[in-house]
Amino acid sequence: MNDILPDEAQLWLWFEDSVREWLEAYGYRNIRMPLVEPTALFKRAIGEVTDIVEKEMYSFEDGLNGDQLTLRPEGTASCVRAVLQHNLLYNAPQRLYYSGQMFRHERPQKGRYRQFHQIGVEALGFAGPDIDAEQILMCARLWKKLGLRDVALQINTLGDSAARQRHREKLIAYFESHMEALDAEATRRLHTNPLRILDSKNPAMQTIIAGAPGLMAELDEEARVHFEGVQAILRQHGVEYEINPRLVRGLDYYNRTVFEWVTTRLGAQGTICAGGRYDGLVEQIGGKAAPACGFAMGIERLLALVQEDGVQPPRTPLDVYLVHQGELADRMASSVAEQLRDAGLRVAMHCGGGSFKSQMKKADGSGAACAVIIGDDEAAQQAVMLKPLRGGGEQQRVALQDMQYKICELIK
Ligand code: ATP
Ligand code: MG
Repeated sequence: MNDILPDEAQLWLWFEDSVREWLEAYGYRNIRMPLVEPTALFKRAIGEVTDIVEKEMYSFEDGLNGDQLTLRPEGTASCVRAVLQHNLLYNAPQRLYYSGQMFRHERPQKGRYRQFHQIGVEALGFAGPDIDAEQILMCARLWKKLGLRDVALQINTLGDSAARQRHREKLIAYFESHMEALDAEATRRLHTNPLRILDSKNPAMQTIIAGAPGLMAELDEEARVHFEGVQAILRQHGVEYEINPRLVRGLDYYNRTVFEWVTTRLGAQGTICAGGRYDGLVEQIGGKAAPACGFAMGIERLLALVQEDGVQPPRTPLDVYLVHQGELADRMASSVAEQLRDAGLRVAMHCGGGSFKSQMKKADGSGAACAVIIGDDEAAQQAVMLKPLRGGGEQQRVALQDMQYKICELIK
């Protein structure tokens, strides 16, 4: 679990601002859920036989009343829970987003942390391929906005439940005839969640996985048309994609469209964004059935990529560092600082005393555009010294009533 220190937080703030504008451009509205939910919610939503529920959840008993609770490992379950609890869904479809910490007890490595951050986007109550495609287009727009290169799109369809059932039986039969090639985890999952075997990262199993029967052959007409519909819109917009029949996603609740955006530049942790359709989830956690589609991005991975690409977020540095010395000057300084802030400027007033020289050093190091310097002489004459700190320029004395104007001239 990482601290994010001020230098890095600058990048996060820039990113969060860009993301908010982007989400609003597609009509998504913010929702904020608690970090803790009943453990049963995640078991029901994510599925008992998944990495998350089997071994990654931070679950604990509330010592005061015995409730079984879990730090959220992902946001979709909480989001759908909130929407049902507050009856948001059945009057109108909802486009929602959230962002924040998620918790998974994984082996920490570059791009994989125990507390990480996601931006999650959920469209609830939409059945057609148009929304699936829109979400993919949205992502493409964000990568462009962030200046990311080398992000590739993979898509697949998981079909509907009847096709999945048929496929499941074929998979079990296939893997049963290759038991010697399965690792312990795959053997354990063979009868509970064989689809997940396709998702295994074990290099020794890749050949056997490559030969497994695909789901495409089992697809029902409706699911096939839906998948075609998604692709038609992607083609219309020139979004390149690869169909990856092994793309099954880690969580149980997906059906039909699934997609991942992957980069080759973050080593094994190359998936920066993953999502798809989950038409069964609302009903599974107690609501009247409603279709839905969503995705989540890992912020740490995205920012790692942004940094690799050398994208420089614009800094929002201080406008003014206020240097002052002397009894009269000290009193005037805090009023001047407040007055400049009233005018919308970013001002750091030197606190803690010290010589002009040492204060000027602080001013130089602060990154401010200019220093406003007040000594008792200036204070007595209702004036300040104005010194540009970037890009040269002479120090000049200005009357108090001209100060704001002069500073604005300087920083524009
Ligand atoms: P992986 O296969 O890498 O474990 P996942 O399928 O568990 O990913 P999702 O649950 O789909 O991941 O989460 C969506 C996104 O959140 C991922 O694509 C990734 O960018 C990010 N993410 C997931 N787990 C972590 C983690 N432990 N640390 C940092 N980012 C993560
Ligand atoms: Mg995972």
